[in-house]
Amino acid sequence: MAKVSINLATGSIQKEDIIVGIDLGTTNSLVAFIDPDKNPRVINDAGKGVLVPSVVHFGPTGDITVGNEAKEFLISDPQNTIFSVKRLLGRSYADVKDYQNFFSYKVIDDDTESLVKIKVGDKFYTPIELSGLILKELKERAEHALKTNVTRAVITVPAYFNDSQRQATRDAGKLAGLDVLRIVNEPTAASLAYGLGLNPEETKTIAVYDLGGGTFDVSILQIQNGIFEVLSTNGDTFLGGDDFDRAIADYWIEKNNIDKTELANNRELTQALRLKAEEAKKALSHQSLFNEKLCEIWCTLDRETFEKLILPKVQQTIASCQNALKDAKLTVADIDEVVMVGGSTRTDLVKKMVSDFFGRDVHNELNPDEVVALGAAVQADVLAGNRSDILLLDVTPLSLGIETMGGLMDTIIPRNSKIPTKAGRQYTTSKDGQVNMKIAVYQGERDLIKENRKLAEFELKGIPAMPAGFPKVDINFILNADGILKIQAIELRSGVKQEVEVKPAYGITDDLVEQMLMDSITNAKDDVSARMLIEAKTEAEQMIYTVERFLEKNGQLLSEQETNDTKQYTETLKAALSSGDKDLIHAKIDELNNLTRPFAERVMDVAIATAMKGKSIEGGTE
Ligand code: AMP
Repeated sequence: MAKVSINLATGSIQKEDIIVGIDLGTTNSLVAFIDPDKNPRVINDAGKGVLVPSVVHFGPTGDITVGNEAKEFLISDPQNTIFSVKRLLGRSYADVKDYQNFFSYKVIDDDTESLVKIKVGDKFYTPIELSGLILKELKERAEHALKTNVTRAVITVPAYFNDSQRQATRDAGKLAGLDVLRIVNEPTAASLAYGLGLNPEETKTIAVYDLGGGTFDVSILQIQNGIFEVLSTNGDTFLGGDDFDRAIADYWIEKNNIDKTELANNRELTQALRLKAEEAKKALSHQSLFNEKLCEIWCTLDRETFEKLILPKVQQTIASCQNALKDAKLTVADIDEVVMVGGSTRTDLVKKMVSDFFGRDVHNELNPDEVVALGAAVQADVLAGNRSDILLLDVTPLSLGIETMGGLMDTIIPRNSKIPTKAGRQYTTSKDGQVNMKIAVYQGERDLIKENRKLAEFELKGIPAMPAGFPKVDINFILNADGILKIQAIELRSGVKQEVEVKPAYGITDDLVEQMLMDSITNAKDDVSARMLIEAKTEAEQMIYTVERFLEKNGQLLSEQETNDTKQYTETLKAALSSGDKDLIHAKIDELNNLTRPFAERVMDVAIATAMKGKSIEGGTE
């Protein structure tokens, strides 16, 4: 039963806030809750339908509509009708420019490093605001249907969503007036909807196959002692049921000898064909032949031809399943359960091929469009304290680290680390008297930060002036259960500290994650040699800096010969620097080191010894 309490001041009965579960989808969104009989249920407010199209329309008088009503404008008013906003959440223009044509509305930004904005008329909206409007609609529908306030929610996101995308989702919730108690991975929610993971004694490995209208992903999860862990994810953000529709439409275009260039100018016919194709696809789930006419075009399709048309796409998803297993270091024999999510898993061939691949029956008893929201409601119930303690554990899909000298990536939390997690490392300054330290946070697998993605940058200010290498700066990364990253920097000698919550400056796509992983493998050799050269150069530069400072400060302690030798060796090292030959650089470092070590010892200048070893971060403003 829902808890009921009495407001002593007014004597009125108050129903306790219900925590809802929200599936904020690319195409459709929906909200679910746990009914008084403890069953998860989707909300269908006043018969408006369960699925709320994730579409926002801006009318000429400033009126905003969301959902089915807004969807009507997709064809008649495309510039003012925003769809697929989830693809833009927490993302920069640089991330989306390659598929700018996909959007019928204007996606813009001022500089390529900032988050995208959408221009509607003369107004600018962020994807967070637009998602906020969708969430607000869901909240209102839930409140109307449940006749109570809804202020707390669990929202699901794809397992591959990065920190900034998760943060953006949280912010969208906040804008909608929702306290987002937890961001939960969609595959985790889908498993929960099937009751998987609710028994703390259970240990299981689950494959969650999610094929929607425009996106596909597969996740391998492990549940142990009520703890969910994402072992791996794989997929394609531009693969889904829409591709099936397109394949059917193309087939009819060819069969009916329709001129493609002519068709390209006829938006309405193109759209009508696409809709007819979708109708045929759905019909072929329960009949073997589809035969209709659309403006003199024969739209005929039998199941065998349909399956031939879509086979390559379905095979692509199976290849992803293979990759996901490989990444999780598992085989099909290790999979105990397969959960189907997304409308396109209703297609027989999809069901059959997934079932054949995993060698077992798949879970498709629940509505594949609703299963994620239902699971989110289960999670909400857990958080409300109505179920035994279940902890949801995820992994971070990409490594997190900071920039060190020479533009190198120094990984602090490696990819696939279980979250929540905390990790840290100690750094020092590179210049005498350096009072500020720039800390730039990156995400990615490459050795050079320029190949990775920047998440944040800040300065630790007020470090007391000390010789280079003296300050001890601890940098800690704290990734919380939602995958939000906090960075703490503290200079241990002085206690100066700074804590920063990563402001999502960047977003990332799931296929980009895959691309980044692939790139890191294909470029591994070049990356390693580049890293080694940079490390050698950095060490040399650091050494030259230290030696020159040494000569300035302590030159009087050296004989003329020693001073001349030192200068000459330093010049040789400088010349080696430009050679690009790391071995030569190392050789010259060694020579200079051997020459100067006794001098350093002579003046007991520990600063030199400290500065010569260990990594240091490039100085900020001094
Ligand atoms: P989703 O994004 O999960 O809502 O999935 C939407 C996709 O599921 C669209 O491509 C629909 O055409 C597809 N879909 C819905 N019903 C069926 C069906 N009965 N058979 C095949 N595909 C379907």
